[in-house]
Amino acid sequence: MHQATSQVRNTMFFMDFSRVCEQLEGTAGRLDIIDIISQVLPGLAPEELPVFVRFIMGRIFPDWSSRKLGIGPNLLYVAIGYVAGMKKEEVVEKINATGDAGLAIEELLSIKSQTTFFHEELDIVRVYNELIAIAEMEGKKSQREKLLAVRRLLANAHPLEGRYLARIMLEELRIGVGEGSVRDAIAKAFAVDSALVEHAIQALNDTGEVARLAKLGPIALRDVHITLFHPVRMMLAQQGTIADMIKEHGQIAAEYKYDGSRFQFHKKGNWARLYSRRLEDVTGSLPDVIEKLISATEHDVILDGEVIAIKDSKPMPFQSVLRRFRRRHDIAEAQDAIEMVPNVFDILYLDGETLIDLPLSERRKHLESAVTLYLAPQVVSSDPLEIERTYKTALDAGHEGIMIKVPASPYSPGQRGKNWIKIKPEVDTLDLAVIGGEWGEGKRAHVFGSFLVACQDGGKLIPLSRVATGLSDEQLSEVYELMKDKVIKKSGKEVTFEPGLVFEVGYAELQVSPTYQAGFALRFPRFIRIRDDKDVTDIETLDSIRERYQRQSKSAQAYQA
Ligand code: AMP
Repeated sequence: MHQATSQVRNTMFFMDFSRVCEQLEGTAGRLDIIDIISQVLPGLAPEELPVFVRFIMGRIFPDWSSRKLGIGPNLLYVAIGYVAGMKKEEVVEKINATGDAGLAIEELLSIKSQTTFFHEELDIVRVYNELIAIAEMEGKKSQREKLLAVRRLLANAHPLEGRYLARIMLEELRIGVGEGSVRDAIAKAFAVDSALVEHAIQALNDTGEVARLAKLGPIALRDVHITLFHPVRMMLAQQGTIADMIKEHGQIAAEYKYDGSRFQFHKKGNWARLYSRRLEDVTGSLPDVIEKLISATEHDVILDGEVIAIKDSKPMPFQSVLRRFRRRHDIAEAQDAIEMVPNVFDILYLDGETLIDLPLSERRKHLESAVTLYLAPQVVSSDPLEIERTYKTALDAGHEGIMIKVPASPYSPGQRGKNWIKIKPEVDTLDLAVIGGEWGEGKRAHVFGSFLVACQDGGKLIPLSRVATGLSDEQLSEVYELMKDKVIKKSGKEVTFEPGLVFEVGYAELQVSPTYQAGFALRFPRFIRIRDDKDVTDIETLDSIRERYQRQSKSAQAYQA
């Protein structure tokens, strides 16, 4: 049923959206992708813009939100089965045969649509509202309610709509539209500067909302402010050296690099929330940290920092912090065992003012005046010896190293730029066979995003670790090209590869672990490079890993003594 009475002309139907997706799916060039999206945007109504932009990026909620739809593949397959008149098992079989849930569902719906005469036309805002309603269903009966709602949506979907609706629900749109392309398309569509769009995205962390503002013009874009309780993406660091940083910038700021978990603290009056590096709300798991931070300032603030675990005045291994971030129960008991201490090193917002555009040196002044406790010390100097001394003190105190920051630099949310440099002892590396992988998420949904790597033992490959960091988008595409025809098994998002490719993988430490068959796990595993000079017979043996572990624990004992 078309919304003939709607106030909005040119309503974007979900079918229109699906056709755009189909067109994008068949387009490889970035400029062509930008072109296609920028032609659609001007015709959208203000309430459609955020929805379209989120959907096209394979998202439902704003970027700052860690909310989940709460629909697993299982529920979706049951719903499809109902609509297509078949058993869930048959649906799963079809999906396995096609290798793509979206395409399989499209086919199933096309069989069904030959027998159905009535479709209620779906538009994108309606689909969005229904998905929000599904996400909000909670409690005992929620799975049943969700199933009914998904069934209703699918029953009204044409086959092509089904392809994209299913993929959005599974958060795997796979049409290769990255945030950068959407940013440039917004700039092009509304004739505004791309840097202005980027800045607004950084502050609001909501590309959809930025599209709506861009339609209003550059003034609206320039006037953006950070919103409390909408977490901002964290600024990240690159590797580098003290000497280069001093050569380039003269004075530099050095802080300890704490080996814990990143947090962002938002506070208004007595109401405060804590967000993890992935912007998940972890307030409930860390009441002690929240209490400490509330006591540290009387202002309304957004603070950036790292929480570490302390026992007998020494930092504890990173894993104890992680455990607390995940913990939902027995929090009181966990609090006694180890003390969680926040270290605050930046401020992004103070009493209504957005501070991210100020230089670090200015932000630091605001930080020192607004926050009285848990401040991470900072040494500002152009003397390499003084910075080296800080580095040694950091390592002696059990921290990971130091962070060097450029005093004149703004806070760049989500950027891994050259304004923050990490200095830590060299990592060791292992050459390992790539035996499995998992499809990426978001803009990486069209490539494999993480990999299972293995060592060898008596001619057998033994899984040792998962590697997800250290690969640039280009490297991910390269690996995808190399491995896409080597998939020998699929299970959900997981794939198994025919072994052949070797990765050099960096790590900070070997740990004994029951998780992997090898009995060891790598701490901070990190892709270094593809070793195309090696094949699977050249990879590390389990014996040599055992030896490395022995050496490592001896040197750790010597260090502690
Ligand atoms: P990495 O995870 O090795 O890329 O290093 C960057 C991470 O170091 C940040 O995301 C923080 O979690 C952590 N970190 C520890 N201390 C600091 C600090 N003083 N400034 C910034 N980040 C820090």
